[in-house]
Amino acid sequence: MKKSISDLSTEQLKGKRVLVRVDFNVPRDKKTGEITDDRRIKEALPTIKYLIDKGSKVILVSHLGRPSGVTEELRLTKIGERLGELLGKKVLKLDDCIGEEVENAISKMNSGDVTLLENVRFYQEEEANDENFAKKLAALADVYVNDAFGTAHRAHASTEGVARVIPGVCGFLIQKELEIMGKALSDPKKPFVAIIGGAKVSSKISVIKNLAQKVDVLVIGGGMIYTFLKSQGYEIGKSLVEAKFLDQAKLIWAELKAMPNLKLIVPVDDVVTSDISNPDAPVKTVPSSQIPADMMGVDIGPETIKLIKDAVKDAGTVVWNGPLGVFENPKFSKGTMEIAKALAASKAVTIIGGGDSAAAAEKSGVADKITHISTGGGASLEFLEGKSLPGIAILQDKK
Ligand code: AMP
Repeated sequence: MKKSISDLSTEQLKGKRVLVRVDFNVPRDKKTGEITDDRRIKEALPTIKYLIDKGSKVILVSHLGRPSGVTEELRLTKIGERLGELLGKKVLKLDDCIGEEVENAISKMNSGDVTLLENVRFYQEEEANDENFAKKLAALADVYVNDAFGTAHRAHASTEGVARVIPGVCGFLIQKELEIMGKALSDPKKPFVAIIGGAKVSSKISVIKNLAQKVDVLVIGGGMIYTFLKSQGYEIGKSLVEAKFLDQAKLIWAELKAMPNLKLIVPVDDVVTSDISNPDAPVKTVPSSQIPADMMGVDIGPETIKLIKDAVKDAGTVVWNGPLGVFENPKFSKGTMEIAKALAASKAVTIIGGGDSAAAAEKSGVADKITHISTGGGASLEFLEGKSLPGIAILQDKK
C-alpha cells in the first residue's frame, strides 16, 4: 500500500509548498485550442481542494501533448483559466516550470494559493528523466504528490525523478485507481470475468497472460481474435491479422486451453463486411467458423453478445479492456455498446481500463453505472499486466 495525502498530518501540509503532478493532458479543439473535455481537470479537484483546505501552497505540474521545445499552442494558459473557474478561485499560471521567475512567484504564495506551472514537456529533460531537471522541480516544494495516473507508467522527471529527491505520496485519484484495480487483481469478488478486445494481439499478450492466471472466465474478442483463429488454421477471410505473432498466438492459445479452471469465451458468430470503408458494401452475420474468404470480421454477432452477457450477469468482478469491434463506425459498434450496457446492468464490481472501452461506455450513456473507469489507458493496461508503474513504485509505502 502506498501512502496518500490523507496519511500526512496537518503539520506536514499547512503552509507547506506541495508540488502535485496532475494529468491535465486534456483533449482540445485542433483549430481554436479550446478544451473539448475537461474531465481530467475535474478528476484532479478532490486532491487540489483537500490541499487548499489544509492550507498548503499548491503547485501544479502537468504535460500537454507532445511538444518539442516551447510550443505556443501547448501552453497551459487555458487549462489554468478552466481550473480557476472550477475551483472558484484565482489560479496563478506561470510561463515556465523551473527557474528564477518561478521560484520568485512561489516564494510569494500564501497558504491555500494555487499556482500552475507551464507545460513540463517544453523541456526534453522531462521525458529523459534528467536528474538535474528533477532536482530543479523538487527545489520548488517541500512535499511531492503524484496524482497523474495516466502518466504513472512513465519514468519521467515530474512523475518519478522528483520523488527520488523529495519523498512522495499519491493523491486521491491514484489512490482510488490502486484500491479498486489492486483489489480486483489481488482479492476479486468471484466469479472474476475479464473481457479483452482491441486490434492487436501484440499489445495485449501480457495482459491476457496475467489475467488468465487470476480470472474464472476470459473473453477474447475484437480484431485480435483473428490472429488466434488463424493460428488454429481457421479461415478468417480478410480480417485483421498480425502475421508476425501467429506462432506466439498458437502457443498462448494452447496454454489457455490447458488451464483447467479457466473458461474461455471466444466469438461464435461475427458481423462481416467485404469493404470496411465502403458504406454500401454488404454486411452480414456468419458463424465464426464460416467467414467468407473475401470478407472481414468487424464486430461480434448476437450469439456471442449473449454468451458474454450471461457471463457478466453472474460475475462478481468484471474487468474490460478493448472494444469488441470497429466501434468507431456505428454499423459495427453494436457488440461493444451491448457489452458496455451489460457491465452497467451487472451487480458486479465493473472496471473499464483503456481509452476506447471508456469512450464506448460514455457513448452508450452508461459510464456513471460502471464502478470504475480508469483514467489511464496505457497505465491501466500495464497495471492489469501486473507490471510495476514507476511513478507509483517510487512513492512511500504505508507502514
Ligand atoms: P486497441 O488499441 O488495441 O485496444 O484497439 C482498439 C481498436 O481496435 C479500435 O480502433 C477498433 O476499431 C479496433 N478493432 C476492434 N475490433 C476490430 C476488428 N474486428 N477489426 C479491426 N479492428 C478492430
